[in-house]
Amino acid sequence: IYLKKENLNVIIESLLPLLQASAMHADKYIEVELGEIPEVCLNDNEIRQLILNLVRNGLEAMEPGGRLTVTTFREGEEIVLAVKDEGKGIDSEILEHIGMPFFTTKKKGTGLGLAVCYSIAQRHKAVIKIDTGPAGTIFFVRFKSDIADH
Ligand code: ADP
Ligand code: MG
Repeated sequence: IYLKKENLNVIIESLLPLLQASAMHADKYIEVELGEIPEVCLNDNEIRQLILNLVRNGLEAMEPGGRLTVTTFREGEEIVLAVKDEGKGIDSEILEHIGMPFFTTKKKGTGLGLAVCYSIAQRHKAVIKIDTGPAGTIFFVRFKSDIADH
């Protein structure tokens, strides 16, 4: 795939109007906290898709009034994107199947959102980690900064 050195924050900012509109439509809120991060090799379209899928899931997991937080930060030599929701969390038996194509717990779900996220992450050598509990879920996408490659 075509990768270009880019700042994740720029991609998130370009998606903001769309994200805010879909949150408002569902009577939910999105907060964005963009940290100081270096550029990494990215495929724009894929990263846009990854962010949209994680945000969509987070919004769908929450009751009206819920707040979704999208954050970027640097941790050592990694660049991290975090999408945090105030949903009910993910049960362990569901967590085991998450990311399998067509696995969904939703009436009208496709079960493809996370499968796509995992393959996009893999093509970027990024790793997805999930931190979930009764107060909500955080999806972390950890990119290696290019500094780590040299
Ligand atoms: P879909 O959204 O179409 O169901 P996904 O692959 O995006 O497919 O997600 C698969 C399943 O993972 C969802 O049906 C849901 O059970 C669970 N899931 C994903 N994200 C979250 C989240 N933020 N909070 C709770 N459950 C989630
Ligand atoms: Mg989904």
